[in-house]
Amino acid sequence: MKRVTKVTALAAAMVMLAGTLTACGSSKGDTLTFGTNAEFPPFEFVASEGVIGQYDGIDMAIAKNIAEQNGMTAEIENMEFDSLLVALQNGQIDAVIAGMTATDERRETVDFSTPYYTATQVMIVKEDSDIAAASDMADKRICVVQGYTGEVCVQDMGYPYEAFKKGTEAVLELTNGKCDVVVIDSATAQKYVSDNEGLKIVEDASAFESEEYAIAVQKGNTELLEKINKSIESMLADGTVNELAVKYTEAVSE
Ligand code: GLN
Repeated sequence: MKRVTKVTALAAAMVMLAGTLTACGSSKGDTLTFGTNAEFPPFEFVASEGVIGQYDGIDMAIAKNIAEQNGMTAEIENMEFDSLLVALQNGQIDAVIAGMTATDERRETVDFSTPYYTATQVMIVKEDSDIAAASDMADKRICVVQGYTGEVCVQDMGYPYEAFKKGTEAVLELTNGKCDVVVIDSATAQKYVSDNEGLKIVEDASAFESEEYAIAVQKGNTELLEKINKSIESMLADGTVNELAVKYTEAVSE
């Protein structure tokens, strides 16, 4: 008899677990939960009044449109960039929208949507810097943001570097004269340069390949991926993504 009770308890626990799984993850009814790292203007940042609660930016507006076009409400979970893909795999969030570059390495663990934005890594330096190409970084103090594609690029070039948790921290290190160059995504670099006196951007197209931002979903979640792709494709076709890029790039460079 005791054994039967145990089995029943286990079955009950499994039902409860299934209930918990339904309460989060992709089967959450009419809420679509996006994970982001709101430290990446103009794509995502915290504002007094954003498009989704306190969250504003190009990605946030895209997320809101995707949810609405599919009869759902977008919700944002803000976390460290490094935690996003793990949270996605755990089912804590349904999708990641974070100016995230669709890389082959990330494709091993998640599926990516149709890309919606093309970017590249650039170097932010002081106005009087003699860095004119990526190879000039060889004997310089390099700063990157942990887990960003910029870190991977510098790693691949074989240069030593220091990694920070946030772009703002890396840029502060540069303005304080503690590092010589920050390698980061182009549009975000533009924002930091317009926010801080005495900085400029150096590009090197031969060293940094172009990158495509896309939304990540759990591997095999084709149902959600198809919905997201349809929305992205319509927003690319009708100019919405372009308008958002212009709007938020101007807003952040004021
Ligand atoms: N595009 C870069 C990457 O994917 C940075 C993204 C971000 O910081 N939000 O790593």
